[in-house]
Amino acid sequence: MQRLGLFGGSFDPVHLGHLLVARAALEELSLDKVLFIPAGRSPFKPASRPAPDNLRLRWLRIALAGEPRFAIEDCELRRGGTSYSIDTVRDILSRQADARLRWLIGTDHVPTLPQWREADALARLVDFVVIPRPGNEPMPAPHPFRVHHLRGWPLSVSSSAIRERIRAGLPCTHLLPPHVAEAIVQSGSYRD
Ligand code: ATP
Repeated sequence: MQRLGLFGGSFDPVHLGHLLVARAALEELSLDKVLFIPAGRSPFKPASRPAPDNLRLRWLRIALAGEPRFAIEDCELRRGGTSYSIDTVRDILSRQADARLRWLIGTDHVPTLPQWREADALARLVDFVVIPRPGNEPMPAPHPFRVHHLRGWPLSVSSSAIRERIRAGLPCTHLLPPHVAEAIVQSGSYRD
């Protein structure tokens, strides 16, 4: 049985907070692998236009290079449109029926869990792991979810703060893996 951590997000762009979260989950939960799952469109960010799929994927590949226990699962991009975790979980289980799945989310997403598509089915198929984030108090899991709280460290870094800093011409090298920072500059993304 493989113990898999599923880490969904826009990764617009991937940043050091994501990598720290994945590392903390891998070690604290003794996972075999963490799959980074870039979303096509997030159901909770319908108005936002993320950077193009190929760029978000390229930055993820650069960020995860040399990390044998981190991998990219691109099924949400291949499906296209709005991405629903239940479809992704069923897809992964159809390929690896005996995997034990843990879905990693930041504390900011806990209140939205009951609105996730087919919440009851999802709660039966995966356990959720909540990662602390500054500004979000720990809260009990809404019914019917089972939630494990990662100890980890709350780290104040977000993709939206990075996008704003790039727009404002401020440095982001302390927030991004260095090669991802270079690739973002080369692509001209987020400058408007
Ligand atoms: P944005 O600022 O654009 O909303 P984000 O930084 O939250 O983006 P996402 O790709 O949307 O990044 O996040 C993917 C997942 O990672 C979410 O569950 C989010 O809560 C979690 N996450 C992102 N950054 C952190 C962090 N610094 N600490 C803990 N969890 C995080």
